[in-house]
Amino acid sequence: MADSEVKKMILKFGKCTESDARGRTISAHTTCAGCGKRIKSGDDLSKVHFSLTKRKTCVFWHEKCGKDVWSGLIHVERE
Ligand SMILES: [Zn+2]
Repeated sequence: MADSEVKKMILKFGKCTESDARGRTISAHTTCAGCGKRIKSGDDLSKVHFSLTKRKTCVFWHEKCGKDVWSGLIHVERE
């Protein structure tokens, strides 16, 4: 998974922290679904994964937090 793809998704689904003159998000953050820590669009995202849910939301997590996330995600998808 390319870094830029994760970053694009954070900018699209995350909470905007900085936007340009046209109102486009240039900096945003989201929360890891595993550990609850903040993931910023400017962070090293090589170990960050994401998944779109059927509710058209996007879930992000650190690679090391993946195990904790999946049980929760499956629950979300089945609701
Ligand atoms: Zn995490």
